[in-house]
Amino acid sequence: MALDSVQATPAATMDKIVALAKRRGFVFPGSDIYGGLANTWDYGPLGVELKNNIKRLWWTTFVHRRSDMIGLDAGILMHPKVWEASGHVVNFNDPLVDCRTCKSRFRADHLLEDKLGIGDAATKSPQEMTAILQEANLACPHCGNRTLTDARQFNMMFDTTIGPVSETGQKVYLRPETAQGIFVQYKNLLATSRVKVPFGVGQIGKAFRNEITPGNFIFRVLELEQMEIEFFTKPEESAAAFEDWLAAMWTWVRLIGLDESHVRVREHDREELSHYSSRTLDFEYDFPGTMGWKELYGLANRTDFDLARHQETSGVDLTYFDQAANTRYLPHVIEPTFGVERTFLTVMLDAYDEEETVDVNGKADTRVVLRLAPRLAPYKAAVLPLAKKPELTTVARELFATLQDELDTLVDYDETSNIGKRYRRQDEIGTPFCLTVDFDTLEDGAVTIRDRDTMAQQRVAIGDTTAYLRDRIR
Ligand code: ATP
Repeated sequence: MALDSVQATPAATMDKIVALAKRRGFVFPGSDIYGGLANTWDYGPLGVELKNNIKRLWWTTFVHRRSDMIGLDAGILMHPKVWEASGHVVNFNDPLVDCRTCKSRFRADHLLEDKLGIGDAATKSPQEMTAILQEANLACPHCGNRTLTDARQFNMMFDTTIGPVSETGQKVYLRPETAQGIFVQYKNLLATSRVKVPFGVGQIGKAFRNEITPGNFIFRVLELEQMEIEFFTKPEESAAAFEDWLAAMWTWVRLIGLDESHVRVREHDREELSHYSSRTLDFEYDFPGTMGWKELYGLANRTDFDLARHQETSGVDLTYFDQAANTRYLPHVIEPTFGVERTFLTVMLDAYDEEETVDVNGKADTRVVLRLAPRLAPYKAAVLPLAKKPELTTVARELFATLQDELDTLVDYDETSNIGKRYRRQDEIGTPFCLTVDFDTLEDGAVTIRDRDTMAQQRVAIGDTTAYLRDRIR
């Protein structure tokens, strides 16, 4: 469809992203045919590609391309002592408030922040939160009755049982963070690879949290995926390593194509720090609507907290022997942590755009376009024969096979409906380039390559298409 005028509109809302995600097969509500299971989501054909592209880019950036990093894939189930040593059994709590009337549950700190405008709510104890809630005589946000309970701590770890559910069964937890797998395997990792302090271990995997108030689409879910790094340093070098990782995290934000003005860094004050941290920064993203600034990623200095606790609980010596200095010490740990779901969501929000356009017939039209960084897009290109005629589809299918092979990436092929509709579909799913095989192709051996963002079209010889795309996708 030819266009004579284009106007950009600020467009992304959570509702639009949820609708697009379902309509185009990115994310479906979990257990959909049973009416769904609240706050569970399944990733469809395009969602799994976007998710895998995010994870692959992260792994390449932080594990493959750095000589001071190695990888690990630890299990979800671990010895229950791990969670005693790490402090999660005692400390991994959120303050819970119930409504006695409608049985709704709320995070007390969120009630204080959202309903009473108290900025440092997370730093308060449950008793302090209760006192403030009682003083304000706050009504239940759900049913309006003034029947909220006192705030009390609620442990967020899911547990299950190994073996028959009886006295012989062993209670275990589903890990609430991937980090502990790295600490517990730290000795094996050191013994079997050639790394020396300072070095880091990267891991991508599922974690589970029994969140009191999950929601906002995939922002807060019960079953999440984390991309975490534990970077081991000399104690006296941990502050410098913290700064290095802060810079590396900003580089990542740019790499995935987020607008930097949508991201800010916020320092935790002393009261807000987790039990294991001496310094924490949150990368926050400015979510649309009432959500506003919320955590995207975290960066923490975990000191030697975890190694010291595991050494003490397991009785295994976890000190590091520094040959050059002939000394032994427990390394300190810098932890950059990235949520896969929050990366996915912010990448979608930032990429979403609507353009008010007018077609050649003067008819108003809205073009929805997902301006994903090409390296993250589910399909890097789509091959479209102009019409479903054998002479065109034969050439198009051949080109499709060649591109898939030579680019070693996912390419789409579509010969259904009119070309305008097919362009719109590819725009909506973020395909950066469409290659159209038309009747001129049969004469000049070239195709039209249409750029998703500018809609500019360029004629490129079929033999040059792989090189052209390879160059542009990078
Ligand atoms: P929040 O304050 O939002 O509860 P958190 O401080 O508990 O997050 P961390 O423990 O630092 O989060 O977890 C590391 C990362 O894992 C977060 O920065 C986020 O990207 C992701 N994450 C944590 N909890 C969830 C969740 N329930 N759903 C989706 N992603 C999550």
